[in-house]
Amino acid sequence: MTATEFRFPMRSDGSYVFGDLVGHVDVVCVACDKCGREGSYSVRTLINKHGPNCKVADLICAITADCAKSHSLDETDHCGAHWPDLVKVFVD
Ligand SMILES: [Zn+2]
Repeated sequence: MTATEFRFPMRSDGSYVFGDLVGHVDVVCVACDKCGREGSYSVRTLINKHGPNCKVADLICAITADCAKSHSLDETDHCGAHWPDLVKVFVD
């Protein structure tokens, strides 16, 4: 088993922030298999709106706050929103 190589270091709390993405990717996609959400966002626009220190994981919660499944009490039926492209950015 080989260790996963990350292109840039994770923060000490295990998060990434949008400022980390500058120079690596211009547009990020959001997709949810459960509610069918699909969209793309400019990294520059997200940073202008939320700041460079906005955590990638926190923003997906904000973007999908209106998903009916994001507040589901059934833990097996939560919103499945994710950034399908970002694994390619973080992991070489
Ligand atoms: Zn959803």
